Amino acid sequence: MTTPILLTPGPLTISRQTKESMLRDWGSWDADFNRITARIRERLLAIVHGEGTHECVPLQGSGTFSVEAALGTLVPRNGKVLVPQNGAYCQRILRICRVLGRAHQAIDYAENEAVRVEDVERALAADPSITHVALVHCETSAGILNPLQAIAEVVARHGRSLIIDAMSSFGALEIDARTMPFDAVIAASGKCLEGPPGMGFVIVRRAALEQADGNCHSLAMDLHDQWVYMKKTTQWRFTPPTHVVAAFDSAIEQYLAEGGREARGARYANNCRILIEGLAKLGLRSFLPAEIQAPIIVTFHAPAISNYQFKAFYDAVKSRGYILYPGKLTTLETFRVGCMGQMGERGIQGAVDAVAAVLLELEAAA
Ligand SMILES: *Cc1c(COP(=O)(O)O)cnc(C)c1O
Repeated sequence: MTTPILLTPGPLTISRQTKESMLRDWGSWDADFNRITARIRERLLAIVHGEGTHECVPLQGSGTFSVEAALGTLVPRNGKVLVPQNGAYCQRILRICRVLGRAHQAIDYAENEAVRVEDVERALAADPSITHVALVHCETSAGILNPLQAIAEVVARHGRSLIIDAMSSFGALEIDARTMPFDAVIAASGKCLEGPPGMGFVIVRRAALEQADGNCHSLAMDLHDQWVYMKKTTQWRFTPPTHVVAAFDSAIEQYLAEGGREARGARYANNCRILIEGLAKLGLRSFLPAEIQAPIIVTFHAPAISNYQFKAFYDAVKSRGYILYPGKLTTLETFRVGCMGQMGERGIQGAVDAVAAVLLELEAAA
């Protein structure tokens, strides 16, 4: 059996070309390597049209490291963060605020509800001490798409700053710095850009970054320091994940060759449609209403099979070459399927076919 295809929203299945670009070793001081870093930063900035106004600061680690770094660097110690909350990644932001000792306030939603602009507006009007809003663009826990553009406009109108966790949307869904006011957009190598996991990056409005000198609670997480050092030396401050950087560069090259944001977004949207329609034919219902379903990851109700257990379902689908993702809802039994990554020759239909075969198997055994 060949390596199974990951139907998970990062790590995900990366192309052979991306994998092969990890076969060479790079010195972190080497000018050729630092040119790769510079090219990645430039191209990431261009994806959101932030040239001239924003800076791209890369950071070692998984995506959460960059979320923590952005909050720690950009929110002053006496700042306050408003977090509209509809899933696990929003809760993680609240937890980071708690650990960093930054004042915070949540607006809580159900796991199948998108954030409402009016609520954010009301909270901002009621509390002038709120300095920042932290919004998760696509809440990967259920797959909800939050109304980013409308919220960005409200936050700007109230003169506050917006920090966007766009981890599972960056590169696939539109974010345009020319028309959308924000201070920071956070993402990572191993999501929609289809690189290996291992580094994150934050696109920061230059003026906000300049003002952030000395805010950060941590040396390693200080994006201002990373930025200043990189500007001065072209190098990363501490050992970079060299192979990941080289592979991410290759992944971005392939992304641009595929047609960039629009092509990537269209491919995922098509996967999402085939998946939802295909599994619906098998009697598997998706959890979210279509209007708030992001074309990134889909939550499905567990199959109505007696003695259903995710583990057995997972193992059976895995033996047919696909890795599912467990559900992350608090009360309902669900499972998730990602729409992203290199799905191989049979594409997402291969995954639908595998689930179909497994359901027949499990039903026959039940
Ligand atoms: C993947 C993801 C993160 C980061 O998670 P890590 O496990 O640290 O990579 C943060 N926010 C969202 C919305 C994500 O999908």
